[in-house]
Amino acid sequence: MSQDTLFGKIIRREIPATIVYEDDDVLGFKDIAPQAPVHVLFIPKNEAIPTLDDVQPAQAHLIGKLALAAAEYARREGFAQNGYRIVMNCREDAGQTVFHIHLHLLAGAPLGHFGT
Ligand code: 5GP
Repeated sequence: MSQDTLFGKIIRREIPATIVYEDDDVLGFKDIAPQAPVHVLFIPKNEAIPTLDDVQPAQAHLIGKLALAAAEYARREGFAQNGYRIVMNCREDAGQTVFHIHLHLLAGAPLGHFGT
């Protein structure tokens, strides 16, 4: 499948990113415009799915892998106990700007109650 997005270029190391997590299926790298002291994006490496709405049942495991990668990173970096937030924006009303699904991990400070 095509990886022809900004994040595809990061996967192919064509543009720089601070990569902090990698396994066979998932790449994690620091967001260029962090919204919290810790702001990491987790993306599938081998499938460029534009939005959550495009995920097919056979691809459902990828969503779990993104979440488990974020949880593993939080444990490894020592902030799992304090807590963190994961977010996935879907399309324009949510503010999605890069159309290669990605999970935001936000942490490192009290984040406030979501939606208030
Ligand atoms: P979205 O708004 O689509 O949910 O999230 C896209 C995220 O990608 C944004 O938080 C934005 O700051 C981040 N981003 C955009 N361009 C780059 C880039 O070139 N490098 C990195 N590391 N993050 C980027």
